Amino acid sequence: MLLEAPRSPLRPAEVGQPEPAPGQVLVRVRACGVCRTDLHVVDGELPEPKLPLVVGHQIVGTVEEAGEMFAAGDRVGVPWLGWTDGTCRYCLSDRENLCDQARFTGYQLDGGYAEWVVADERFCFPLPDEYEDLQAAPLLCGGLIGYRSLSMTDDAERLGLYGFGASAHIVAQVAKHQGRTVFAFTRAGDDEGQEFARSLGVDWAGSSDEAPPEPLDAAIVFAPVGAVVPAALAVTAKGGTVVCAGIHMSDVPSFPYELLWGERSIRSVANLTRRDGDEFLELAPRIPVRTEVQEFSLEQANEALDAVRAGRVRGSAVLSVASA
Ligand SMILES: [Zn+2]
Ligand SMILES: [Zn+2]
Repeated sequence: MLLEAPRSPLRPAEVGQPEPAPGQVLVRVRACGVCRTDLHVVDGELPEPKLPLVVGHQIVGTVEEAGEMFAAGDRVGVPWLGWTDGTCRYCLSDRENLCDQARFTGYQLDGGYAEWVVADERFCFPLPDEYEDLQAAPLLCGGLIGYRSLSMTDDAERLGLYGFGASAHIVAQVAKHQGRTVFAFTRAGDDEGQEFARSLGVDWAGSSDEAPPEPLDAAIVFAPVGAVVPAALAVTAKGGTVVCAGIHMSDVPSFPYELLWGERSIRSVANLTRRDGDEFLELAPRIPVRTEVQEFSLEQANEALDAVRAGRVRGSAVLSVASA
């Protein structure tokens, strides 16, 4: 499913099987999760995507042609971080997620809304056997970037999650497992989303313009809505952090300094490191994190994107890719 120009629907196309370069594996795609970031690429909100482009960066597949790290038939996950230079000041200081030259799957590199993909095997993950293909896909971005965001809240006891979608439904389970109190915030009137959050064991669910029953020690903002940032700050206790987890957000409106005063902080989380992935994929089956997926076929990719855009997906949308 090809993106030929931003702000146009993906188009089914025959593009031929990609050829793996040295260091890459050829992967037969089984499933690919749909992420809000895919929407930002398709909607032209992220600059200069490769064009034409295959989007999708939560890829579950099997290795067709072995590399040095994976054998033919191995199941692998291909995430957002597709390549780094390994030599810049960020890479050399354990911050490869910030690499100046990084290339991202489904953005600068062709991704997983396809039957085949090639990937640098150093950035692929083995996947825990406990998960079926469809259920494993959301772990690869919603899960592990959510996990990185959660780790930025340190040991915050009372955690707010703004936007209860693919990522939050996973993070809520990890946070509860860690013994935190979790407050889920959805858009106003999203009773179904709040009910879904409660079914996963959160302590409270309400709308993002409501005050939670207790102040928060940290909040993670998954919603791409800048106005949520001061709203979250306003209900965050002194010393607390508001973590912005999305790659794109509408402008944050100005707000009184008083909301930030008291050693509150705002920060963003960008991308992932391979260490985040290793840690999270080891942790997820031990909790165990259960992913709720809504299945679409590859050909229904545009419908899946529309469902994510409209907030109609319970959990995570995943494309199921039939064998070529
Ligand atoms: Zn680098
Ligand atoms: Zn993503």
